[in-house]
Amino acid sequence: MQTNFSLAQLADPAMAASEKILRTCVHCGFCTATCPTYLLLGDELDSPRGRIYLIKDMLEGGKPATAEVVKHVDRCLSCLSCMTTCPSGVHYMHLVDHARSHIETTFVRPPEDRWLRALLAAVLPYPNRFRLALLGAKLGQPFRSVVARLPRVGNRLAAMLDLAPATLPGRNPTDRPGVFPPPANAPARRGRVALLRGCAQSVLRPDFNEAAIRLLNRHGVEVVQPKGESCCGALTHHMGREDSAHAFAKRTIDAWIAEMDAQADGKGLDAIVVTASGCGTTIKDYGFMFRNDPAYAEKAARVSSIAKDVTEYVASLGLNEPVIESDLVVAYHSACSMQHGQGIRTEPKNLLKRAGFLVKDVPEGHICCGSAGTYNILQPEIAERLRARKVANIERMQPDLIATGNIGCATQIGKGTDLPIVHTVELLDWATGGPKPEALAALPERALPVAAE
Ligand code: SF4
Ligand code: SF4
Repeated sequence: MQTNFSLAQLADPAMAASEKILRTCVHCGFCTATCPTYLLLGDELDSPRGRIYLIKDMLEGGKPATAEVVKHVDRCLSCLSCMTTCPSGVHYMHLVDHARSHIETTFVRPPEDRWLRALLAAVLPYPNRFRLALLGAKLGQPFRSVVARLPRVGNRLAAMLDLAPATLPGRNPTDRPGVFPPPANAPARRGRVALLRGCAQSVLRPDFNEAAIRLLNRHGVEVVQPKGESCCGALTHHMGREDSAHAFAKRTIDAWIAEMDAQADGKGLDAIVVTASGCGTTIKDYGFMFRNDPAYAEKAARVSSIAKDVTEYVASLGLNEPVIESDLVVAYHSACSMQHGQGIRTEPKNLLKRAGFLVKDVPEGHICCGSAGTYNILQPEIAERLRARKVANIERMQPDLIATGNIGCATQIGKGTDLPIVHTVELLDWATGGPKPEALAALPERALPVAAE
C-alpha cells in the first residue's frame, strides 16, 4: 500500500512503525474472510482491510479521530484472526494498538462512554476493587431489567451484571507473593519460574493458578510469585490507555527482573509462565511496547524473551505419565490470543491427548467467542452474537466439558452454556495426580483412578 506521510511525521517512532506496517498491506482482502465482525456485519469498514484504510487516513492526515473511525475501530475485537490469515505479514496488532492510543488522545467520547471506560480501567486491574465490584454486581442483578433500560449506557451496564458470577470463590491460599517449591517426592529440580498472578483471573478463577502451581511443582519446577507484581497492563493497553498500561507493565517488569537477576544459589528464572493467554500475548510484546524507552527497552525485551504460556512450558518439560484413565470428551477452545496472538495451536491439545482425554476441535475454531478483554462489556450485542455462535459450535460436538487457556473466554463461554469449563492446566493437573477440578464435580464420575500421587 502506498503511503504519504511527511518526514516530520515519520520522525515519530510510533508513526514510522505504523507506516511500515501499512506498506506491507497489498489490499488483497483475504483477511476479510476470517474477521468475525465482517462475518456478522458485512460492512467493509468492519473488516481488517477497511479498518486499515480508516487508520491510514487518520494517521496520515495527522487528524484527530472522527466518530466514524472510532465506531469501526471500537468494533474490532483485536482477535488477530486477520494476522493469521494475511499472506503479506501485516502486523495488524501493532497498527490497531497505535490507532487506539491515537483515539484515546484525540477523540472526546460522549460522557457516558468516558465514565464507563474510566470505571473499567479503575476497577478491573485491581483484584480487591474487582472483588468488591462483583459483590456490588450481585446486589444489582435483581434490578437488571431497570438498569438495561437506562439511556445510552444501559445495555453495557446490563452486560456487566450478566458477566458477574453467581458465586465468587474465596481467596485462594496460593494467590500471594511467595515461593512454592516442589514437594519432597518430586523429581530432581528441573527449573524455576515466575507465575503471573494476574488481576481478574485471581478473583474469578483462582483455581487455575493453583492447579498450575501443583502441576509445575509435580514436574520438579519451583514457582515464585514475586512481590511488587501488578496487572500486566493488557486490559488498559487494549483500551488505548498507554500511560496506565505502561505503568502496570513497568511495575511487573521490575518485579520479574529482580527475580531474574537474583544471584543466590538456586535463584534466577528459566521462564515467566502465564496461564491467561490474553496476558501472555501482551507480555510477549513488552519488547516492542518499550522499544523506545531507554530505561526499560532492555529489561522489557528480556522479560518477553522468557515469557511462555503454561502449556508451552509444560510441553517443553514433557508431561508425566497420567495416573488416571479418562474417557471424557473435551472440546478444546483455543483463545484468539493463544492461536492468533501467540501462534500456540498444537501444544495444549497434544498435552490433553497425552493426559488421556479425547480432544475435539471446535468448528469455526478461528472465530472469536466475543470476550476480547472488555469487549463483551463495551460491545455487548456483537459479543452476544459471537458467544451464541461459539456455544452452538461447541455443543454440536457433544463434549463432556470445555477446556481453554484464557479466563476471558472461560467467563464469556461459561455464561452461554451449562457445560463445565475448565483451564487446560486443571485437566493436566488432575490427570497427573492432582484433585478433580471443582467445576467438574457434577460430571458423572467416569474417570478411573489407577494410581494416586
Ligand atoms: S490479507 Fe493482509 S495484505 Fe491482504 S488486505 Fe488483509 S491485511 Fe492487507
Ligand atoms: S483483529 Fe479480529 S475483529 Fe479486528 S480486524 Fe482483525 S479479524 Fe477483524
